[in-house]
Amino acid sequence: MSDYLVKAITAGVRVYAAVTTDLVGEAVRRHDCYPIAAAAVGRTMTGALLMAANLKNEEAITVSFRGNGPIGTITADATADGYVRGYAGNPHVNLPLNENGKLDVGGAVGQGLVTVTRFTGLKEPMSGSVEIVTGEIAEDLTQYMFASEQTPSSIGLGVLVESDFKVSAAGGFMIQLMPDADEETVSRLEENLKSLRPVTSMIADGLDAEAIIKEVMQGFEMEFLSTTELSFRCQCSKERIEDVLFSLSRADLKTLVDDGQAEICCHFCGEKYHFTGEELAHILKLVDGLEAGK
Ligand SMILES: [Zn+2]
Repeated sequence: MSDYLVKAITAGVRVYAAVTTDLVGEAVRRHDCYPIAAAAVGRTMTGALLMAANLKNEEAITVSFRGNGPIGTITADATADGYVRGYAGNPHVNLPLNENGKLDVGGAVGQGLVTVTRFTGLKEPMSGSVEIVTGEIAEDLTQYMFASEQTPSSIGLGVLVESDFKVSAAGGFMIQLMPDADEETVSRLEENLKSLRPVTSMIADGLDAEAIIKEVMQGFEMEFLSTTELSFRCQCSKERIEDVLFSLSRADLKTLVDDGQAEICCHFCGEKYHFTGEELAHILKLVDGLEAGK
């Protein structure tokens, strides 16, 4: 198995960890992400998968960072059963390393809001937003869980990008305190987190999801629960893209017909859909028919 997520519990605490190297690599290839966008999108997708692991099957989550920085909006959609897609507005953002000698994800994201929307399928989607704290993604999602969902959490995310822009490792963890956690558990956990090394360092050392959990939960007896396979997947199709054409103004549609063809790119996954002049003319005819029928 390549990418997967593991759930574990101990008294008063639940922990999820994920290895996401392949799916982050696929997103980076599909969107031609430079290293900062690779890290930002990879962390956001991994975070979304960890947060989605709290949901029931069929439920999904959207995490979006709308900052004023040069990367634009970062969005990731993840489902409880392990599918994710994600992208950034400007995948080619390029900034000098930050003062710690690291990719300046925070500088690329800037100030703004992180919004998390849950789709339960039954009720209206539930949405909450908090101010972006550092723009480094993990801290912001930790803050979101605390402020918006009242769940004290600690989220760690890491994406390792090589000099050839390839993703050599990606993953993360999410620790959540349950209301029944006793004081000893809380203080031992705080000690663990104080001395914890960055996730990037763990995944660079080849730690798998179980080993990440063992490292962050040192001194705790963990019970490992389910394992979920993870992969990149987009729900787009030519039919869905056609709906986008139907939503265009008549003038814009006419321009495409006059161009004799159109190539429309799904911004979630980078898949390109080609429409011939005949297909476009047919859509225009249908639109005119609908107009005439009004
Ligand atoms: Zn797509």
